Amino acid sequence: MRFTFVTLFPNLIEGYFQDSILKRAIDKELFSVDYLNPRDFSLNKHSKVDDTAVGGGAGMVMNPQPLCDALDSLKTNNPDIHIIFLTPVAKPFKQNDAKRLAKKSHVAFVSGRYEGIDERVIEEFADEVFSIGDYILTGGELASLVLCDAISRNVEGVLGNSESLSIESFESELLEAPSFSKPKEYRNLVVPKEYLKGNHSKIRTLKIALSECKTKFFRPEQLLKHITRKPYEK
Ligand code: SAM
Repeated sequence: MRFTFVTLFPNLIEGYFQDSILKRAIDKELFSVDYLNPRDFSLNKHSKVDDTAVGGGAGMVMNPQPLCDALDSLKTNNPDIHIIFLTPVAKPFKQNDAKRLAKKSHVAFVSGRYEGIDERVIEEFADEVFSIGDYILTGGELASLVLCDAISRNVEGVLGNSESLSIESFESELLEAPSFSKPKEYRNLVVPKEYLKGNHSKIRTLKIALSECKTKFFRPEQLLKHITRKPYEK
């Protein structure tokens, strides 16, 4: 799989892939990452990529020309590419989106800066648009990294143990049960006794009960969905 980051600031992104699981996955050629800077396509003699908003309004907007030319070049060379724009106004990105997009061969993330991107570029090129939450970031780079991280860990082979994916939160309505590490007792706090006895069926039952408690506390609407689901849907 291939990810292309379309950004004015590739330096902000590069470091993220230089360590840990995603670096190992790139070393194993499970996916690749590259960058396309719209500034390199600017026809302005000072390589300008933004201008004041037509019709007035605060701040600068990213011009269509550098972005459209950059995206044209990307599409011409990669007809199968799936282009995603990051914008705070779109639908929120979810785990199901991460799993679905992990099946694509090539995904591009387009990051806005300043007051955002000229809307015509989004109309022309977006296969999909996503937000990562109801708040405003200074640019789309962090948002595209969030999507890329969540998608790439669903690419076959990226996580050492693919079983860990299937029990994670958001794979079903129930959140994942609490996890504990060693030692068994730390600062007078103990791991639930059942976890220590090695009876896997009892541990599984306890984990389901703890998952339900955790979901009730953090995401009561999810628990409601879980208990009202018909048995044949489970
Ligand atoms: N003026 C825009 C508005 O009010 O909707 C916000 C522009 S924001 C300062 C600049 C860029 O950051 C956006 O074009 C988008 O790419 C990115 N961005 C900011 N917040 C985001 C969010 N919550 N999710 C995804 N992208 C975001």
